[in-house]
Amino acid sequence: MLGWSTNLFRVAGIQLSLHFSFYLLLGFNAWQGWREAGWAGLWWHSGILVAFFVCVVLHELGHCFAARRYGVGVSRILLLPIGGVAEFDGIPREPRREVVISLAGPTVNFVLSAGLWLALRGLPATEVLPNALPDLAASLEFLLTWNLLMGTFNLVPAFPMDGGRVLRALLAGKMDYVRATFWSATVGKIVAVAGAVAAYFHQPLAILLFLFVFIVGEMEYRGARRRAEEEGHFRLTVERLRAQSLAHGTRPPV
Ligand SMILES: [Zn+2]
Repeated sequence: MLGWSTNLFRVAGIQLSLHFSFYLLLGFNAWQGWREAGWAGLWWHSGILVAFFVCVVLHELGHCFAARRYGVGVSRILLLPIGGVAEFDGIPREPRREVVISLAGPTVNFVLSAGLWLALRGLPATEVLPNALPDLAASLEFLLTWNLLMGTFNLVPAFPMDGGRVLRALLAGKMDYVRATFWSATVGKIVAVAGAVAAYFHQPLAILLFLFVFIVGEMEYRGARRRAEEEGHFRLTVERLRAQSLAHGTRPPV
């Protein structure tokens, strides 16, 4: 599914790709704008969506640049309607590094929020656009609010949010990686269930989002357990080969 994407261009050597479902979002959003206020609405809605996703890309670039500092390669940033995903060649198992890489994204959102707040303060008070569309100040305010939400929401300790990785990294300093993933995924699932219950009373559609958070938590744990088993199996095979070659008087393979 994640393979159904088109490549746009490279940012600082990192490929930016759009998932096919992103085009559906662009089209739906443009149609909604057109229905609201004709062509002006279409352009405003499209412009604000692009500006929002520029912030998403900057968030992901925050992770990418932090990862590069530790020598981790980044293959691409994939944009989906629900946000962005930076694809790394491997996440360092060193807790401090994982914390820095994870926090770099939300930090970008808070820096952007501060910049937008300063820009809003410097803006002249009145500017009216046709067709009752939000003016420049309202647009900047919208982006400011969304950056604050993006930064804060990503700090929630639940996978796939950055806060889930921060929690895992903090726990990994005290226990093994699989156990740390289990406990951080469990906290994430509790958050997801609590969120789903709250959503049931206020915004039933958001239950889907919390279901997604719950499933990703389980997948993250299963993935960590499988990798640990594979690594254990690999180590055992190498040790057996080494023991065999020593028994036969040959050089160990590694
Ligand atoms: Zn992030």
